[in-house]
Amino acid sequence: MKLWSQFFIPTLKESPADAEIASHKLLIRAGLVRKLSAGLYTYMPLGQRVMRKLTEICREEMDRAGAIELWMPHLHPAEFWENGPRWAASREIMFRADSAGAAARPSREPELVLGPTHEEVITPLVKNEISSYRDLPKNFYQIATKFRNEIRPRYGLMRTREFVMMDAYSFDADEAGAARSYEAMKRGYEAFFRRIGLLSIAVEADTGVMGGSFSHEFMAPAEVGDDDIIYCEASGYAANREKATSALVPADLSDAPPSGEIEKFATPGVATIAALAAAPYSVPAEAQFKTLVYIGDGQPFVVILRGCDELEEAKLGALGFTLVRPATPEEIEPIMGAKPGSLGAVRGTIKNPAALTGIFADHAIRLIGNGTTGANEDAHHLRHVNVARDLAITRFGDFRRVHAGEPCPLSGQPLQSRRGIEVGHIFVLGTKYSERFGAVYTDAEKQSHPMVMGCYGIGIGRSMQALIEQDHDADGIRWPWAVAPFQVIVTLLDPKDEAATAMAKTLAAAAERAGADVLVDDRDERPGVKFKDADLIGIPLRLTVGGRGLKEGVIELKWRHEAAARKVPVAEAQSVIA
Ligand code: ATP
Ligand code: MG
Ligand code: MG
Ligand code: MG
Repeated sequence: MKLWSQFFIPTLKESPADAEIASHKLLIRAGLVRKLSAGLYTYMPLGQRVMRKLTEICREEMDRAGAIELWMPHLHPAEFWENGPRWAASREIMFRADSAGAAARPSREPELVLGPTHEEVITPLVKNEISSYRDLPKNFYQIATKFRNEIRPRYGLMRTREFVMMDAYSFDADEAGAARSYEAMKRGYEAFFRRIGLLSIAVEADTGVMGGSFSHEFMAPAEVGDDDIIYCEASGYAANREKATSALVPADLSDAPPSGEIEKFATPGVATIAALAAAPYSVPAEAQFKTLVYIGDGQPFVVILRGCDELEEAKLGALGFTLVRPATPEEIEPIMGAKPGSLGAVRGTIKNPAALTGIFADHAIRLIGNGTTGANEDAHHLRHVNVARDLAITRFGDFRRVHAGEPCPLSGQPLQSRRGIEVGHIFVLGTKYSERFGAVYTDAEKQSHPMVMGCYGIGIGRSMQALIEQDHDADGIRWPWAVAPFQVIVTLLDPKDEAATAMAKTLAAAAERAGADVLVDDRDERPGVKFKDADLIGIPLRLTVGGRGLKEGVIELKWRHEAAARKVPVAEAQSVIA
């Protein structure tokens, strides 16, 4: 239990002029943070308590998802970045932190940089430490400080130059494994956001400078968010506007359009193949396509070129899909005119529709999708992405940006858009970093392969502010129970009243025994000031002790989320707490 008089909660009546949005104002007014300079904040004692809770819940969920905690340096020798695949692209965002020796470097390149993320550190580490398939998969995480020279730090903790991130990096033997790690982390993220009480939705995202092959962002819906989400409630599609294309994605396969619908859009035959081959569509050149979607006779087939296991096959079967085991690479290669697994290869394939139809007999074939495979529910989601995207393409002829207001091709409902705050991000990275740094392993046959990586980030400070943005009122913050800096505040009307003080301590002790963190407001202030402050700092449960009530054997109990306070007998209050 903490006594307010001995703790430190510098609340303010006014917010600073540079605080534009509600959550930023409340962060300052509630004494959670103080600004040092642009994009740099001190977490004050109350803010630090919330951060500790967020961090602990994050740690529990990452551990549960199978990730292993470690800690890496924040100062990175620049050569690690120079050796990596994105030195040029990420230099702008990096602070240099040279020692005296740097000036002597003829290149005038930095000697040390402050880490904006850690792929360039973890991949060489794993290269040195792991060499056998027996040690895979592994997923390492840390909860630590990141440094980014943001052009426009703003909105308090939303975009800072130094911030706390949970960052994780998974290493798998193959793509199916990487997809399993990805899905485990996706579930871990969902559990984390659920537990901290933040409404967030996973949306399809661009991979950006990471250059991975598949990615979701976790968006906390809020007007002040920097990102636009395009979505359709009826079909379940949701994507970052940067990514949103006419390829619409229902949430899971069970909402797949009935096969009759699919048939309606599909025109089997060689002509379709030729038309599809000619249709322009924009996908990132780096995207790795590994899945063939086959539409014909009203039944979609998913032909997976690699990485589909039996469980996945069984589940697809249960959902009415017929899985065709792929033709061998030797069979596919001459048709494609290139190796399976690349976009070029597939376009090549389509140039020779006659040969393809030779294998799949008189049906339309279309290669689509980011081909992440995994033996779980979410893999079906990805399959559905492919099928749905195919539908959209068949119908519209190409991939293109979709906009709010257009009819969602799947549901017919207008697409909607809303703003979101990116609180987390997950990527399947593929082998981009492992190949560059030589993170390879040998399989049981002594063959060597690059590890397939994933990377994951959660903004802890940004999540804290997103919580405030999502749930506050005119009086202040309304913390969810799990992350509240204190869960119960015992407001002592008159600290000189000995009986009331004793009762306050008894109640506080009972609440503590029940597992709550308790703050006793023992300040020599007017009750009105105390009530206002309790509301401002957002403590979920307030117990008010003293005055006439106590003489009558009652105290006042008020939940922050409820408008009215209740008078309850002391004994009952104790039972509410317990
Ligand atoms: P943004 O699009 O907002 O710039 P990002 O895509 O660059 O974020 P990632 O590299 O995906 O960020 O990092 C993972 C997470 O770290 C983000 O989802 C976000 O929650 C958090 N984060 C990123 N940049 C910042 C920042 N400048 N301040 C606070 N949190 C941040
Ligand atoms: Mg950024
Ligand atoms: Mg982003
Ligand atoms: Mg991101």
